[in-house]
Amino acid sequence: MNDFEKTNCAENSGNELVEKSIDRFYRETTKENLIDVLESIRNRMHEDGKWIVPVIPPQELSENIDIENIKAGDTITASQPLHFKLHHLETTDGKTWLAAFTGMDEAEKGESTSTITDDIGQMLKGCRNMHEAGIIINPWGKSFKLTKELIQMVLDADIPENHIYCQEGDITKLDVDVIVNAANNSLLGGGGVDGAIHRAAGPGLLAECRTLHGCKTGEAKITKGYDLKAKYVIHTVGPVYNRLESEKCAGLLYDCYRNSLELAKQYDLHTIAFPAISTGVYGYPKHEAAVIAFMAVSGWLDENPDYGMAVILCCFDQETMKIYRYILKSRSQEKDSFIH
Ligand code: ADP
Repeated sequence: MNDFEKTNCAENSGNELVEKSIDRFYRETTKENLIDVLESIRNRMHEDGKWIVPVIPPQELSENIDIENIKAGDTITASQPLHFKLHHLETTDGKTWLAAFTGMDEAEKGESTSTITDDIGQMLKGCRNMHEAGIIINPWGKSFKLTKELIQMVLDADIPENHIYCQEGDITKLDVDVIVNAANNSLLGGGGVDGAIHRAAGPGLLAECRTLHGCKTGEAKITKGYDLKAKYVIHTVGPVYNRLESEKCAGLLYDCYRNSLELAKQYDLHTIAFPAISTGVYGYPKHEAAVIAFMAVSGWLDENPDYGMAVILCCFDQETMKIYRYILKSRSQEKDSFIH
């Protein structure tokens, strides 16, 4: 192994549970042990874990970098994207596979090769679109064939089914992919849920909102979540309720939910929490707004049956919670009576 290899492998650690589960499966090929391997890989993926991947280094790298003088732990920054070719393995059945090692000791069991550390999640997602049969983990030791079907199982286990939940509480505390903000047209913060979200997210949120140049009523824009547990915030602007224009208001409120869900889908987000948009300062009657929220959300879920979106309707007060519960219950009864 040369220094370049060491450099790129320095980050490796934390794959012990994957190794242990593979070891158990190697000794006893049971369904339970297989599930344990997949579960340990999925957990590692969530921890942003890395694997060591054998590669053929690009020509530009050896031309531009003094490989001999790189020490373990050094970071190399390339001015242009580098394209590493992954090593392939061929099994006796003629199938080709990518290879990955859980640790440097595993990589060293075979022929010396250059390696990089690669993000497990990215590798699994990338592998789905390649023609290889999958990834062989630790090919020179106790190996595990992570076929494409198993990769899909690891990734699918993460996708919740389409579902609507009601939850009472503060939306800023929720550990979801994205929370929706009932913002105003300026997107520069306000009272109610908007103020709470900005306080919890910190000043970075306002700074990013300034770059968005506002948002029209019924539309939605996305930012990062900053100090929130949620990774993203979708800012949508509900209508100010006007009894004389109730149909127009209903349409705009409906659009807020749908456009937020569409935007979440564009970002591949699968858990989303909504406040009761427009029912605070904007004065929308709570019951009417809840019916529109349910229609918009359930309509979108019906149109996207395989997407896997968990929608949390977050209620800040008991009155809203009661209304949502009532609608949810009558909705499921409707479905039940339809089925029977
Ligand atoms: P709008 O201007 O769209 O009416 P508001 O923020 O005034 O927005 O209120 C929208 C809804 O959000 C109201 O039902 C309010 O009770 C609720 N709300 C306020 N703070 C929070 C919070 N921290 N978490 C969840 N919902 C909240």
